[in-house]
Amino acid sequence: MKVLVAVKRVVDYNVKVRVKADNSGVDLANVKMSMNPFCEIAVEEAVRLKEKGVATEIVVVSIGPTTAQEQLRTALALGADRAILVESAEELTSLAVAKLLKAVVDKEQPQLVILGKQAIDSDNNQTGQMLAALTGYGQGTFASKVEVNGDSVAVTREIDGGAQTVSLKLPAIVTTDLRLNEPRYASLPNIMKAKKKPLESLTPDALGVSTASTNKTVKVEAPAARSAGIKVKSVAELVEKLKNEAKVI
Ligand code: AMP
Repeated sequence: MKVLVAVKRVVDYNVKVRVKADNSGVDLANVKMSMNPFCEIAVEEAVRLKEKGVATEIVVVSIGPTTAQEQLRTALALGADRAILVESAEELTSLAVAKLLKAVVDKEQPQLVILGKQAIDSDNNQTGQMLAALTGYGQGTFASKVEVNGDSVAVTREIDGGAQTVSLKLPAIVTTDLRLNEPRYASLPNIMKAKKKPLESLTPDALGVSTASTNKTVKVEAPAARSAGIKVKSVAELVEKLKNEAKVI
C-alpha cells in the first residue's frame, strides 16, 4: 500500500513571530523554519504503518519554496522513501494547495493520504477536508488512532467530549491530531542516507493547476499587548482588588 504524506514548511513553533512593519504579513527574515508539527505526526504514522508491513512505500509531498526541500529531507530521514516538491514562491490558499495535492494524488494513486489537522502558521484546518472533497475519498479528520484492515481504515477521531471511530473505504484521507503518536527524531546515519533518496521537483503548471487566488490578505496585526499580572499576598487582598479595582464582584 502506498501512503502519501503532505508536509508543510512553517515557522518553527518555538519562534515568537513578528509582524512586518507594513502589516502585510509575518516577518520571515532570519526566522527558523521547520516541518509543521502535525505533519511530523503524519510522517511518523506512515513510518509506523511501514514498520508494521501495512505500507510498502511512503511518498512525502510539500508545496512551497525551494527551501521546503529541507523539510522533505527531514521526512526522508524519518523514513519516507521519496519526496515531491511542488515549487511555488507564492503564498497559496488552502484550496490551491488542495488542488495541487489532488493532482499529485492522481499521479501517484496512493491508498492512504495523511495530512496534519492544521498548519500552525495559518491555522486553517481545511486542506485535508478540501482534498477529500476534490478526490471524493472518505475522510477521517483529527485522528488519534489509525488501523488499516484490508481495504478499509478505522480512524478514531478526537471530537468534543469524546472519541468517534469511523471506517473508511480505501483510498482515504486522514488528518492527524496530537495524540496519534509521538514522532521520533532522525538519527545521524538516516540524515546522511536521506541525502541520496529521490526528490522530484514539479511546478503547478506541470501539474496543470492554476493557483490563482480569490483571497487577498488585507492586514496582519500582532495581538494587543496585555498588561502584566500581579501576585496577591492573601485571599483578602484578592477579594479587595476584585471588588474595588476590577469591580467584578
Ligand atoms: P491547513 O489546512 O493549512 O491548516 O493545513 C493542514 C495540513 O494540510 C498540513 O498539516 C499539511 O499536511 C497540509 N498542507 C497545508 N499546506 C501545505 C503545503 N503548502 N504543502 C504541503 N502540505 C500542506
